[in-house]
Amino acid sequence: MSNSDCIFCSIVAGNIPCIRIFEDEVVLAFMDIGPISDGHTLVIPKAHFGRLHECSTEVLAGISNCIGRIVQAVVEAVDAEAYNILCNNGAAAGQLVEHVHFHIIPRNSGDGVFGRWPAYKYQEGQAEEIGARIREKI
Ligand code: AMP
Ligand code: ZN
Repeated sequence: MSNSDCIFCSIVAGNIPCIRIFEDEVVLAFMDIGPISDGHTLVIPKAHFGRLHECSTEVLAGISNCIGRIVQAVVEAVDAEAYNILCNNGAAAGQLVEHVHFHIIPRNSGDGVFGRWPAYKYQEGQAEEIGARIREKI
């Protein structure tokens, strides 16, 4: 399944070039064209799915199968101390390309790649109430 309007489907089809890192039947990994750290790599399913929850279990399994190996190679190649895996889902969450993808972002102490983590505390009882609503949906 591919989407003719999708830039990542065009990369999978070979119509747009990429710096390929890894490929198997299910997955393609390539260098991000606008890195936020050296080695920033994207891992995508070859089939078009918009968001993570829309992926088939086979695709999710295929990504799980190789992402650890790709991460290890990226981190070792750029000699990073750490990494983030980021998957933006939906425009409000910062997803610009509507073909699901995992960012592998190598990190080092003090690199300032991400700003403050905006943590806050729930009101009394609010976490229990939201947790119950989520459990009902599972
Ligand atoms: P997101 O905001 O999570 O949708 O991220 C989309 C990512 O795709 C960005 O980090 C872009 O730099 C990257 N990107 C867009 N077009 C290309 C391309 N042709 N080759 C490689 N990476 C791309
Ligand atoms: Zn696509």
